[in-house]
Amino acid sequence: MKEYLPEIVKCVRCGRCRTVCPVQQVQGWEFAGARGRMQIAMGMASGLEPSAGMIRSILTCTTCHQCVTECPTGADPQQVTRAARRKLVGLGHATPHQLEMQERIRNTGNSLGDKSARTAWITAHQVPGESGYVYFAGCLASYRYQSTATATYGILEKFGVGLLEDEKCCGSPLFRMGLDASELIEHNSRQFKEAGAHTIIVGCAGCYSMFREQYQGFGVLHLSEFLADRLDELSLSQLDISVTYHDPCHLGRTYGIYDAPRQVIEKVCTLVEMKASKENASCCGGGGGVRMGYPELSGSIAEELKNNIPDGIDYVVTSCPLCFRNLADTGVKVLDLAELVSMAMK
Ligand code: SF4
Ligand code: SF4
Repeated sequence: MKEYLPEIVKCVRCGRCRTVCPVQQVQGWEFAGARGRMQIAMGMASGLEPSAGMIRSILTCTTCHQCVTECPTGADPQQVTRAARRKLVGLGHATPHQLEMQERIRNTGNSLGDKSARTAWITAHQVPGESGYVYFAGCLASYRYQSTATATYGILEKFGVGLLEDEKCCGSPLFRMGLDASELIEHNSRQFKEAGAHTIIVGCAGCYSMFREQYQGFGVLHLSEFLADRLDELSLSQLDISVTYHDPCHLGRTYGIYDAPRQVIEKVCTLVEMKASKENASCCGGGGGVRMGYPELSGSIAEELKNNIPDGIDYVVTSCPLCFRNLADTGVKVLDLAELVSMAMK
């Protein structure tokens, strides 16, 4: 952790991140938030033996990026927390849920540990993909939200977008938990090269940030960006519904993709903004391995988010299957962006 000391000491303990960290807001104590995690990282850098409380604090960050956006000194508690996770794993402190995720992916190539075929969702006509664009479905759409994968590819195949021969998890769950994702990165990168892909299209915010951060040699677009540039080429009708949009942290706050999904939504129905949106959007609580390791905390953060949903809307639209899952579990009516567009396709 010593190499992160220059980043850690940027924290002047002003406490501004305390007001925005979704975990601290739900749990209400210092070491559940970004400032506390910076202090723990400082302790680890000084050789402090990690306690169970320290490990829990480091592992309960959802990687929502709020603290990074808010910090007046430019500190990056999220990066420091991720480094602390790697360090804890290196010291032999991997928790059962981290080890379980590692095993699932090692045995099945997906984060669900599902042994069925990854491509069982493919009902649409599969195109050769000579366009150089490839759709990467991701684990959740391939195994849990197959209607999302089908809807997404039903749109993309019209533009000659291809699929990979042998897609595996992008590695995001491992990377976020501080585990080694290098084999998956190598595998998928080889697949992209063999497919002749110059650009990967994803419908998942987690896959999007993983490709942006950890893969090299390919462009990456979220489905919303790809569609926003081609709306006139799709024959879309106007739906008589109103929706609100949940900005996934790994798409919005982290990469500033705010306009594209809104352009797509406004093309087909009425959009009513959340009470807090864009850079102030609430975290769904699902990211960073928190849903898997700390489901009660994750659910409490999702419940908090519900306070931002405006009255009278028909659906919350999102563009990330993990947000979809966490919000749907609280009883919210959620639609993936691809399903909304599919509903409007003539
Ligand atoms: S906002 Fe930045 S400087 Fe202030 S306590 Fe948080 S991490 Fe430290
Ligand atoms: S990334 Fe989000 S959850 Fe993690 S410390 Fe920062 S504000 Fe809290």
